[in-house]
Amino acid sequence: MHDAVALARDLIRCPSVTPIEGGALDLLQSTLEGMGFTCHRLPFSAEGTPDVDNLYARYGTARPNFCFAGHTDVVPTGPTESWSVDPFAAEIRDGVLYGRGATDMKSAIAAFVVAVQRMLRDKTPEGSISLLITGDEEGPSVNGTKKMLQWLTENDEDIDICIVGEPTNPTRLGEMMKIGRRGSMNGWLTVRGEQGHTAYPHLADNAAHRIVDMLRALTAEPLDEGSDHFQPSTLQISTIDVGNPTTNVIPGEARATFNIRFNDLHSSAKLTEWLHKVFDASIGDGGKYDLHIEVMANPS
Ligand SMILES: [Zn+2]
Repeated sequence: MHDAVALARDLIRCPSVTPIEGGALDLLQSTLEGMGFTCHRLPFSAEGTPDVDNLYARYGTARPNFCFAGHTDVVPTGPTESWSVDPFAAEIRDGVLYGRGATDMKSAIAAFVVAVQRMLRDKTPEGSISLLITGDEEGPSVNGTKKMLQWLTENDEDIDICIVGEPTNPTRLGEMMKIGRRGSMNGWLTVRGEQGHTAYPHLADNAAHRIVDMLRALTAEPLDEGSDHFQPSTLQISTIDVGNPTTNVIPGEARATFNIRFNDLHSSAKLTEWLHKVFDASIGDGGKYDLHIEVMANPS
């Protein structure tokens, strides 16, 4: 019998930062094959995005097919000095497991796999059990679940019931159930000014000053107060870049990236309109900017 904590630790020890497989899918595949699952590795590629490996595993062939959907990829660690533990050591301190992916969502996968193993020890399911595990949830999400679902359709693999093992409950299991998902979109803002010397600002147009005003306007007000089934929408600036190593040059260009998680009070089209309105109003006279938007999903 596998142990859920041990399996979670082994998975965390695979450094599977998107799009790297890191051994996590290999480990999962060998574990599931050992339990009688039939496994399909589904690597996908697309121009402009990194190749990503995915895993679909099924126990049995009968219907209904009960599926657990999840991902083994994790977000980057950020600066390691901001960690009090090695992000990939899966250390246990005072009964708490620490590591990248401990919450989102290697522990959930481990718990499900071990629960299935326990169940199979006592009985054979009437239907089948499957796992749809992508390595592209935290990245561009182009070569992951969407393409896997296409593959499933083409190969007559029907999923009847699906549970998503994402961490959702704020403090304890069973506290909260989600019946939909928020939308997500990314924005890349580039503000163009005129480079110059800080001693002669009247000859320049400081892009950093403009972007500061624009980003302040962007975060000034909450997007909403939440809806019946969704929490309030949020906007987070993820990076601001001027890339100016000197102190006496006025930057001619400034960039920022932000992510919006939005509820069913919005659509990506309406939010894009709103973004332009905010930026047009806050950039100041004569300012120029480009806004590139990528929509990951609308609320559903
Ligand atoms: Zn996740």
